[in-house]
Amino acid sequence: MPGTIKTEFIPRQEGVVLNRIPTPVASLLDGKALAHKIQAELATRIQTLQSQFGRAPGLAVLMVGDNPASAAYVRGKERACQKVGIASFGQRFPTNTSQSELSQVIAALNQDQQVDGILVQLPLPDHLDANALLYEIDPDKDVDGLHPLNLGRLLRGEPGLHSCTPAGVMRLLQEYQIPLVGKQAVVIGRSILVGKPLALMLLAAGSTVTIAHSQSHDLSAIARTADILIAATGRPGLVSAEMVKPKAVVVDVGISRVEDSTGSRLVGDVDFNAVQSVAQFVTPVPGGVGPMTVAMLLDNTLWSFSQRHKAS
Ligand code: NAD
Repeated sequence: MPGTIKTEFIPRQEGVVLNRIPTPVASLLDGKALAHKIQAELATRIQTLQSQFGRAPGLAVLMVGDNPASAAYVRGKERACQKVGIASFGQRFPTNTSQSELSQVIAALNQDQQVDGILVQLPLPDHLDANALLYEIDPDKDVDGLHPLNLGRLLRGEPGLHSCTPAGVMRLLQEYQIPLVGKQAVVIGRSILVGKPLALMLLAAGSTVTIAHSQSHDLSAIARTADILIAATGRPGLVSAEMVKPKAVVVDVGISRVEDSTGSRLVGDVDFNAVQSVAQFVTPVPGGVGPMTVAMLLDNTLWSFSQRHKAS
Protein backbone atom coordinates (compact mmCIF):
# COMPACT_ATOMS: atom_id res chain seq x y z
CA MET A 1 0.00 0.00 0.00
CA PRO A 2 1.55 3.35 -0.96
CA GLY A 3 2.07 6.14 1.60
CA THR A 4 -0.17 9.16 1.22
CA ILE A 5 1.24 12.37 -0.23
CA LYS A 6 0.93 15.59 1.72
CA THR A 7 1.32 18.86 -0.15
CA GLU A 8 3.02 21.55 1.87
CA PHE A 9 1.62 25.04 1.55
CA ILE A 10 4.28 27.69 1.07
CA PRO A 11 2.92 31.25 1.50
CA ARG A 12 3.48 33.63 -1.43
CA GLN A 13 6.14 36.26 -0.77
CA GLU A 14 7.25 39.26 -2.82
CA GLY A 15 9.54 38.12 -5.62
CA VAL A 16 9.22 34.44 -4.71
CA VAL A 17 7.74 32.02 -7.19
CA LEU A 18 4.88 30.01 -5.66
CA ASN A 19 6.10 26.49 -5.14
CA ARG A 20 4.54 23.36 -3.79
CA ILE A 21 6.84 20.62 -2.55
CA PRO A 22 5.21 17.24 -2.14
CA THR A 23 6.36 15.67 1.14
CA PRO A 24 5.68 11.96 1.46
CA VAL A 25 4.01 11.07 4.72
CA ALA A 26 4.00 7.56 6.10
CA SER A 27 0.69 5.79 6.59
CA LEU A 28 -0.20 4.83 10.14
CA LEU A 29 -0.23 1.26 11.36
CA ASP A 30 -3.30 1.88 13.48
CA GLY A 31 -3.08 -0.50 16.42
CA LYS A 32 -5.99 1.09 18.21
CA ALA A 33 -8.40 0.48 15.33
CA LEU A 34 -7.16 -3.08 14.80
CA ALA A 35 -7.41 -3.84 18.52
CA HIS A 36 -11.06 -2.69 18.47
CA LYS A 37 -11.74 -4.95 15.50
CA ILE A 38 -10.08 -7.93 17.22
CA GLN A 39 -12.00 -7.28 20.44
CA ALA A 40 -15.30 -7.20 18.56
CA GLU A 41 -14.45 -10.56 16.94
CA LEU A 42 -13.42 -12.03 20.30
CA ALA A 43 -16.65 -10.84 21.92
CA THR A 44 -18.71 -12.68 19.29
CA ARG A 45 -16.68 -15.88 19.64
CA ILE A 46 -16.82 -15.74 23.43
CA GLN A 47 -20.62 -15.43 23.39
CA THR A 48 -20.87 -18.61 21.34
CA LEU A 49 -18.33 -20.52 23.45
CA GLN A 50 -19.95 -19.40 26.69
CA SER A 51 -23.31 -20.86 25.67
CA GLN A 52 -21.55 -24.01 24.44
CA PHE A 53 -19.46 -24.63 27.58
CA GLY A 54 -21.51 -22.90 30.24
CA ARG A 55 -18.83 -20.50 31.40
CA ALA A 56 -16.82 -17.51 30.23
CA PRO A 57 -13.03 -17.63 29.79
CA GLY A 58 -11.31 -16.33 32.94
CA LEU A 59 -8.17 -14.22 33.43
CA ALA A 60 -6.39 -13.54 36.73
CA VAL A 61 -4.10 -10.51 36.76
CA LEU A 62 -2.00 -10.33 39.93
CA MET A 63 -0.65 -6.99 40.99
CA VAL A 64 1.64 -6.30 43.93
CA GLY A 65 2.20 -2.78 45.31
CA ASP A 66 0.91 0.54 44.09
CA ASN A 67 3.03 1.47 41.07
CA PRO A 68 0.68 3.93 39.29
CA ALA A 69 1.75 2.88 35.77
CA SER A 70 1.16 -0.81 36.60
CA ALA A 71 -2.21 0.03 38.19
CA ALA A 72 -3.25 1.83 34.99
CA TYR A 73 -2.16 -1.14 32.83
CA VAL A 74 -4.06 -3.58 35.07
CA ARG A 75 -7.21 -1.44 34.95
CA GLY A 76 -6.91 -1.30 31.15
CA LYS A 77 -6.61 -5.09 30.94
CA GLU A 78 -9.62 -5.62 33.22
CA ARG A 79 -11.72 -3.13 31.26
CA ALA A 80 -10.82 -4.92 28.04
CA CYS A 81 -11.80 -8.28 29.61
CA GLN A 82 -15.16 -6.87 30.60
CA LYS A 83 -15.75 -5.53 27.08
CA VAL A 84 -15.28 -8.92 25.41
CA GLY A 85 -16.89 -11.07 28.12
CA ILE A 86 -13.81 -12.53 29.85
CA ALA A 87 -14.28 -12.96 33.61
CA SER A 88 -11.64 -11.20 35.73
CA PHE A 89 -10.15 -12.98 38.75
CA GLY A 90 -7.64 -10.21 39.42
CA GLN A 91 -6.14 -9.77 42.87
CA ARG A 92 -4.23 -6.83 44.38
CA PHE A 93 -1.61 -7.37 47.07
CA PRO A 94 0.18 -4.90 49.36
CA THR A 95 3.86 -4.12 48.63
CA ASN A 96 5.08 -6.24 51.56
CA THR A 97 3.43 -9.45 50.30
CA SER A 98 5.83 -12.40 50.61
CA GLN A 99 7.05 -14.72 47.89
CA SER A 100 5.36 -17.72 49.52
CA GLU A 101 1.99 -15.95 49.74
CA LEU A 102 2.12 -15.27 46.01
CA SER A 103 3.26 -18.83 45.30
CA GLN A 104 0.20 -20.13 47.13
CA VAL A 105 -2.11 -17.83 45.16
CA ILE A 106 -0.57 -19.01 41.87
CA ALA A 107 -0.89 -22.67 42.92
CA ALA A 108 -4.60 -22.13 43.69
CA LEU A 109 -5.19 -20.34 40.36
CA ASN A 110 -3.38 -23.15 38.50
CA GLN A 111 -6.03 -25.55 39.91
CA ASP A 112 -9.01 -23.21 39.45
CA GLN A 113 -11.19 -24.51 36.60
CA GLN A 114 -12.69 -21.04 36.04
CA VAL A 115 -9.29 -19.53 35.31
CA ASP A 116 -7.68 -19.92 31.86
CA GLY A 117 -5.01 -17.26 32.09
CA ILE A 118 -2.70 -16.06 34.86
CA LEU A 119 -0.55 -12.96 34.56
CA VAL A 120 1.78 -11.38 37.11
CA GLN A 121 1.99 -7.66 36.40
CA LEU A 122 5.64 -6.59 36.23
CA PRO A 123 7.68 -5.00 37.67
CA LEU A 124 7.36 -6.51 41.15
CA PRO A 125 8.77 -4.94 44.32
CA ASP A 126 12.50 -5.66 44.77
CA HIS A 127 12.13 -8.30 47.51
CA LEU A 128 10.18 -10.59 45.16
CA ASP A 129 11.69 -12.99 42.62
CA ALA A 130 9.57 -12.45 39.50
CA ASN A 131 11.25 -15.25 37.54
CA ALA A 132 10.56 -17.83 40.23
CA LEU A 133 6.87 -16.85 40.22
CA LEU A 134 6.65 -16.97 36.42
CA TYR A 135 8.06 -20.52 36.50
CA GLU A 136 5.25 -21.54 38.90
CA ILE A 137 2.45 -20.53 36.54
CA ASP A 138 0.93 -23.51 34.72
CA PRO A 139 2.44 -23.12 31.19
CA ASP A 140 -1.01 -23.74 29.72
CA LYS A 141 -2.33 -20.70 31.62
CA ASP A 142 0.75 -18.53 30.98
CA VAL A 143 -1.01 -15.91 28.84
CA ASP A 144 2.05 -13.62 28.91
CA GLY A 145 4.05 -16.36 27.16
CA LEU A 146 7.03 -15.89 29.47
CA HIS A 147 7.30 -19.41 30.91
CA PRO A 148 10.42 -21.21 29.57
CA LEU A 149 8.21 -23.92 28.07
CA ASN A 150 6.29 -21.37 26.00
CA LEU A 151 9.48 -19.56 25.01
CA GLY A 152 10.89 -22.96 24.00
CA ARG A 153 7.79 -23.69 21.93
CA LEU A 154 8.24 -20.36 20.19
CA LEU A 155 11.90 -21.17 19.51
CA ARG A 156 10.89 -24.53 18.04
CA GLY A 157 8.06 -23.00 15.97
CA GLU A 158 5.40 -24.99 17.84
CA PRO A 159 1.96 -23.63 18.71
CA GLY A 160 1.62 -22.27 22.22
CA LEU A 161 1.03 -19.14 24.23
CA HIS A 162 3.24 -16.44 22.73
CA SER A 163 4.26 -13.14 24.33
CA CYS A 164 1.55 -10.57 23.79
CA THR A 165 3.55 -7.54 22.62
CA PRO A 166 5.56 -9.35 19.91
CA ALA A 167 2.41 -11.23 18.85
CA GLY A 168 0.62 -7.87 18.61
CA VAL A 169 3.36 -6.45 16.38
CA MET A 170 3.14 -9.47 14.08
CA ARG A 171 -0.64 -9.22 13.87
CA LEU A 172 -0.39 -5.53 12.99
CA LEU A 173 2.13 -6.26 10.21
CA GLN A 174 -0.13 -9.05 8.94
CA GLU A 175 -3.23 -6.84 8.94
CA TYR A 176 -1.49 -4.24 6.77
CA GLN A 177 -0.12 -7.00 4.51
CA ILE A 178 3.48 -5.94 5.07
CA PRO A 179 5.66 -8.41 3.14
CA LEU A 180 8.06 -10.18 5.50
CA VAL A 181 9.48 -13.07 3.46
CA GLY A 182 13.05 -12.32 2.46
CA LYS A 183 12.93 -8.82 3.95
CA GLN A 184 15.57 -7.34 6.23
CA ALA A 185 14.16 -6.85 9.72
CA VAL A 186 16.07 -5.05 12.45
CA VAL A 187 14.85 -5.32 16.04
CA ILE A 188 16.42 -2.81 18.41
CA GLY A 189 16.19 -4.30 21.91
CA ARG A 190 16.93 -7.83 23.14
CA SER A 191 14.65 -8.26 26.14
CA ILE A 192 12.94 -11.57 26.85
CA LEU A 193 9.62 -9.68 26.91
CA VAL A 194 9.84 -8.03 23.49
CA GLY A 195 13.07 -8.04 21.46
CA LYS A 196 14.05 -11.73 21.52
CA PRO A 197 10.58 -13.27 20.97
CA LEU A 198 9.81 -10.73 18.25
CA ALA A 199 13.06 -11.58 16.46
CA LEU A 200 12.06 -15.27 16.55
CA MET A 201 8.61 -14.49 15.17
CA LEU A 202 10.05 -12.42 12.31
CA LEU A 203 12.52 -15.20 11.58
CA ALA A 204 9.67 -17.73 11.46
CA ALA A 205 7.84 -15.40 9.07
CA GLY A 206 10.77 -15.57 6.64
CA SER A 207 12.60 -12.31 7.37
CA THR A 208 16.36 -11.98 7.71
CA VAL A 209 16.66 -10.70 11.24
CA THR A 210 19.26 -8.58 13.00
CA ILE A 211 18.97 -7.85 16.72
CA ALA A 212 20.64 -4.62 17.83
CA HIS A 213 21.03 -3.55 21.44
CA SER A 214 22.75 -1.15 23.81
CA GLN A 215 26.19 -2.59 23.02
CA SER A 216 25.79 -2.61 19.24
CA HIS A 217 28.25 -0.45 17.28
CA ASP A 218 26.89 2.04 14.75
CA LEU A 219 23.21 1.53 15.42
CA SER A 220 22.34 3.98 12.62
CA ALA A 221 24.09 1.88 9.98
CA ILE A 222 22.38 -1.29 11.22
CA ALA A 223 18.96 0.39 11.37
CA ARG A 224 19.32 1.78 7.84
CA THR A 225 19.52 -1.76 6.44
CA ALA A 226 15.98 -2.47 7.67
CA ASP A 227 12.93 -2.90 5.48
CA ILE A 228 11.15 -3.45 8.78
CA LEU A 229 12.56 -1.56 11.73
CA ILE A 230 11.29 -2.33 15.24
CA ALA A 231 12.32 -0.19 18.19
CA ALA A 232 11.83 -1.69 21.66
CA THR A 233 14.23 0.12 23.97
CA GLY A 234 12.40 2.63 26.15
CA ARG A 235 14.75 5.40 24.92
CA PRO A 236 12.61 8.33 23.74
CA GLY A 237 13.55 9.62 20.30
CA LEU A 238 16.33 7.04 19.78
CA VAL A 239 15.27 6.39 16.18
CA SER A 240 15.80 9.49 14.06
CA ALA A 241 14.85 9.99 10.41
CA GLU A 242 18.51 9.46 9.40
CA MET A 243 18.34 5.92 10.79
CA VAL A 244 15.41 4.94 8.60
CA LYS A 245 15.73 3.58 5.08
CA PRO A 246 13.32 5.36 2.71
CA LYS A 247 9.95 3.51 2.54
CA ALA A 248 10.78 1.29 5.52
CA VAL A 249 8.08 0.05 7.88
CA VAL A 250 8.76 1.38 11.39
CA VAL A 251 7.18 -0.13 14.49
CA ASP A 252 7.60 1.70 17.77
CA VAL A 253 7.17 -0.56 20.79
CA GLY A 254 8.69 1.87 23.29
CA ILE A 255 6.54 3.69 25.80
CA SER A 256 8.10 6.33 28.04
CA ARG A 257 6.52 9.13 30.01
CA VAL A 258 8.28 12.46 29.46
CA GLU A 259 7.73 15.78 31.20
CA ASP A 260 8.32 19.03 29.38
CA SER A 261 6.94 22.56 29.24
CA THR A 262 3.71 21.22 27.69
CA GLY A 263 3.19 18.78 30.58
CA SER A 264 3.48 15.02 30.82
CA ARG A 265 2.91 12.71 27.86
CA LEU A 266 3.69 9.25 26.52
CA VAL A 267 6.28 8.95 23.77
CA GLY A 268 7.89 6.08 21.90
CA ASP A 269 11.47 5.35 20.83
CA VAL A 270 10.90 6.85 17.39
CA ASP A 271 11.06 10.54 16.47
CA PHE A 272 7.60 10.20 14.96
CA ASN A 273 7.33 13.56 13.15
CA ALA A 274 10.71 13.25 11.46
CA VAL A 275 10.41 9.55 10.62
CA GLN A 276 6.97 10.08 9.10
CA SER A 277 8.54 11.81 6.13
CA VAL A 278 10.89 8.90 5.38
CA ALA A 279 9.02 5.72 6.25
CA GLN A 280 6.19 4.08 4.33
CA PHE A 281 4.39 2.97 7.49
CA VAL A 282 4.85 3.92 11.11
CA THR A 283 3.03 3.13 14.37
CA PRO A 284 1.92 6.02 16.57
CA VAL A 285 2.53 6.16 20.34
CA PRO A 286 0.05 5.95 21.93
CA GLY A 287 -2.38 4.04 19.71
CA GLY A 288 0.06 1.64 18.03
CA VAL A 289 1.51 -1.42 19.71
CA GLY A 290 0.04 -0.76 23.19
CA PRO A 291 -3.61 -1.60 22.35
CA MET A 292 -2.42 -4.61 20.34
CA THR A 293 -0.69 -6.01 23.43
CA VAL A 294 -3.98 -5.99 25.32
CA ALA A 295 -5.85 -7.49 22.35
CA MET A 296 -3.32 -10.35 22.20
CA LEU A 297 -3.69 -10.96 25.95
CA LEU A 298 -7.43 -11.46 25.43
CA ASP A 299 -6.73 -13.63 22.39
CA ASN A 300 -4.28 -15.76 24.39
CA THR A 301 -6.85 -16.19 27.17
CA LEU A 302 -9.42 -17.39 24.68
CA TRP A 303 -6.87 -19.71 23.05
CA SER A 304 -6.05 -21.23 26.44
CA PHE A 305 -9.80 -21.65 27.18
CA SER A 306 -10.34 -23.37 23.83
CA GLN A 307 -7.35 -25.70 24.30
CA ARG A 308 -8.57 -26.74 27.74
CA HIS A 309 -12.07 -27.48 26.47
CA LYS A 310 -10.69 -29.35 23.47
CA ALA A 311 -8.67 -31.53 25.84
CA SER A 312 -11.58 -32.23 28.22
P1 NAD B 1 14.12 -3.60 28.59
O1 NAD B 1 14.64 -2.46 29.40
O2 NAD B 1 14.01 -4.94 29.20
O3 NAD B 1 15.01 -3.76 27.28
C1 NAD B 1 15.43 -2.63 26.56
C2 NAD B 1 16.34 -3.10 25.45
O4 NAD B 1 16.74 -1.96 24.71
C3 NAD B 1 17.61 -3.80 25.93
O5 NAD B 1 17.75 -5.01 25.26
C4 NAD B 1 18.74 -2.83 25.56
O6 NAD B 1 19.90 -3.50 25.12
C5 NAD B 1 18.12 -2.01 24.46
N1 NAD B 1 18.63 -0.63 24.46
C6 NAD B 1 18.59 0.25 25.48
N2 NAD B 1 19.18 1.40 25.11
C7 NAD B 1 19.61 1.24 23.84
C8 NAD B 1 20.30 2.07 22.92
N3 NAD B 1 20.66 3.31 23.24
N4 NAD B 1 20.57 1.55 21.71
C9 NAD B 1 20.21 0.31 21.37
N5 NAD B 1 19.54 -0.53 22.21
C10 NAD B 1 19.25 -0.06 23.43
O7 NAD B 1 12.71 -3.10 28.04
P2 NAD B 1 11.50 -3.95 27.39
O8 NAD B 1 10.72 -4.60 28.44
O9 NAD B 1 11.98 -4.73 26.23
O10 NAD B 1 10.64 -2.73 26.85
C11 NAD B 1 11.15 -1.85 25.87
C12 NAD B 1 10.20 -0.69 25.69
O11 NAD B 1 8.97 -1.20 25.23
C13 NAD B 1 9.88 0.08 26.97
O12 NAD B 1 9.66 1.43 26.64
C14 NAD B 1 8.57 -0.54 27.44
O13 NAD B 1 7.79 0.35 28.20
C15 NAD B 1 7.92 -0.80 26.10
N6 NAD B 1 6.93 -1.85 26.12
C16 NAD B 1 5.78 -1.57 25.50
C17 NAD B 1 4.80 -2.52 25.45
C18 NAD B 1 3.53 -2.19 24.72
O14 NAD B 1 2.53 -2.83 24.96
N7 NAD B 1 3.57 -1.22 23.80
C19 NAD B 1 4.96 -3.76 26.06
C20 NAD B 1 6.19 -4.04 26.65
C21 NAD B 1 7.18 -3.07 26.67
